[in-house]
Amino acid sequence: EASPAGSGSSGRRRRVLMFPLPFQGHLTPMLQLAGALHARGGGGGLGVTVFHAAFNAPDPARHPAAGFRFVPVGEGVASGDLVPSGSDADFAGALLRINDRLREPFRDRLRQALAEEEARPACLVVDSNLRGMQLVAEELGVPTLVLRTGAAACLVAYMAFPALCDKGLLPPASQDKAQLDTPLDELPPLRLRDMVFSPTTTHANMTRCLRDLLDAARSSSGVILNTFQDLESSDLQKITNGLGVPMYTVGPLHKISSGIGSSLLAQDQTCLEWLDRQEADSVLYVSLGSLASMDEKELLETAWGLANSQRPFLWVIRHNMVKSSREVSLPDGFEEATRGRGMVVPWAPQQEVLAHHAIGGFWTHNGWNSTLESICEGVPMICWPQFADQMINMRYVQEVWKIGFELEGELERGKIERAIAKLLCTEEGRGMRQRAKDLRDKALHRSRAPPTQPRSIRRSKRPARHRAI
Ligand code: UDP
Repeated sequence: EASPAGSGSSGRRRRVLMFPLPFQGHLTPMLQLAGALHARGGGGGLGVTVFHAAFNAPDPARHPAAGFRFVPVGEGVASGDLVPSGSDADFAGALLRINDRLREPFRDRLRQALAEEEARPACLVVDSNLRGMQLVAEELGVPTLVLRTGAAACLVAYMAFPALCDKGLLPPASQDKAQLDTPLDELPPLRLRDMVFSPTTTHANMTRCLRDLLDAARSSSGVILNTFQDLESSDLQKITNGLGVPMYTVGPLHKISSGIGSSLLAQDQTCLEWLDRQEADSVLYVSLGSLASMDEKELLETAWGLANSQRPFLWVIRHNMVKSSREVSLPDGFEEATRGRGMVVPWAPQQEVLAHHAIGGFWTHNGWNSTLESICEGVPMICWPQFADQMINMRYVQEVWKIGFELEGELERGKIERAIAKLLCTEEGRGMRQRAKDLRDKALHRSRAPPTQPRSIRRSKRPARHRAI
């Protein structure tokens, strides 16, 4: 139930507390985990209290009423500089500010919740970026588990960060391309540039953030990872060896629990009907997730790259996806050039889209959820990473799993057209699809979920919020 201070019927369930980072890519896996814990034993599992930042809040009405409780934290807190956006965003700075501003309000909320509960909660599951909230829980005697919403490979890279600094490799001595492309012998197949959060994140902020993250992991009762053994066995082993706390591999979480209702934006379901009319493996799905963005010139090049490719596409243009532009306008002539084979939506039901038999490839920014969702449906990728862990994920997609390739350098329509042709129409692309399908089979085996069937029945029909071209 929605409750400002966590009040309401407590029932007799043992309760677990959760605190996700207030961004889509972190909220979703935390709520999926919450759903899985709640559903154990046919819905008679743990009670769940989700503490969450008052900004970017999940909608309590879209979760089961019994046993679920939502507690907003920091209603009065200024949030304008807490949401990073775009490749030049200072992601680490935003994380530090979130911890600073939510820590005190969380102490009040947690104290109040503990006073109201009959029984002590089992633990707090806290996002690995919320060391501040973990310290509050420690202070009030609540044990913590840490949820890492990224890849095991990323955690291994972050664990190596202090040693790379000691060696003088980080921060990079220059922004010279050759220097940034230096392979890291300690972390194959990563390169130096994969270890830089974003161009505007200072080394000091990045160092603080990663120190906090590793402190959170090491002082917890265990680390939960949204990945699976067959995908990242060697990095998982490195974490087990190097972290000194138990590790729980629970992914792919979205195959275990839908996290239904975790989307912060309304998902346009009508694109699924449009996909029903397309041929198998024919459509390129294009989406940059919830935070990444492009400038107006990149939008223009993308539009003409898609148009000139002559392939069907489903393109997500989020309301704030284009930098410094309030109204997104597609170029004149684009609509006519792509009529009948393109669709643009403001936000898609991505997991269902990727599971649709018509999808042949995914142009992605390589957020971990998008990467994992693509892998779990056997969809190969064109990678366009921007910040945080996205470069690391891209490197694994390209070099380790060989299920996609980077769209490197400046976005340019001819380059985009060739990349689409390579992914959808060549033997090389077919090889990537086959390897992605092999990984999907391993993921399904892990989650024991039946393979997703091609959709034939459609659910709710929302008002059309898309642009069908
Ligand atoms: N997503 C969605 N609809 C869209 C685009 C993305 O539901 O149109 C979801 C996607 O399924 C994923 C999440 O948003 O679960 C994005 O997380 P990710 O880690 O990929 O990227 P982030 O948004 O954190 O950069």
